[in-house]
Amino acid sequence: MSRCTGHCCRRVIIQFSPYELARCLQGLRNGVKEFTLDNGEVHVHNYALEELTKVCDMVLWLGTSDVDPADGARLLTQDGARRFEHNYTCRHFDPVSGDCLNYANRPRMCSEYPFRQACRYTACTADCALSKQMRVVSEDLDKIKALEVNETLGVDVGHD
Ligand code: SF4
Ligand code: SF4
Repeated sequence: MSRCTGHCCRRVIIQFSPYELARCLQGLRNGVKEFTLDNGEVHVHNYALEELTKVCDMVLWLGTSDVDPADGARLLTQDGARRFEHNYTCRHFDPVSGDCLNYANRPRMCSEYPFRQACRYTACTADCALSKQMRVVSEDLDKIKALEVNETLGVDVGHD
């Protein structure tokens, strides 16, 4: 089995800016489950203090980008406009070896990724058992959906 190549650690989207993360953590330490976004809106959350502390300690802001780090696709709003998201890397990630240098203490965000779905990082050559399994399941589901659509439309799908 090939090992993790760390594509999911090298560059990841987090929906909040560094300032928003800091405000969220500060509030949570005071028992407040809401914080102000950079645009002035109030965001109510349900994050756990331990998890958020780990995430805030590890992330390094890279800037904003309208390219999805998972598959290189352009990020767009529902109206088709360019959509920019905050990109981060992790200070525990060793870019040479691809290792996580904090593996035993990594947050759930990392240990549970890709959240029982197919991993979206298309360039990764790792053979993550769960990710691979989910990729096969999702490809099978796509094939089944395509068959159902074709049958609904009366397209010859090659049945005997
Ligand atoms: S397949 Fe996905 S979850 Fe597994 S190491 Fe690669 S990028 Fe990370
Ligand atoms: S803590 Fe480890 S697993 Fe999580 S992003 Fe950083 S290097 Fe990757």
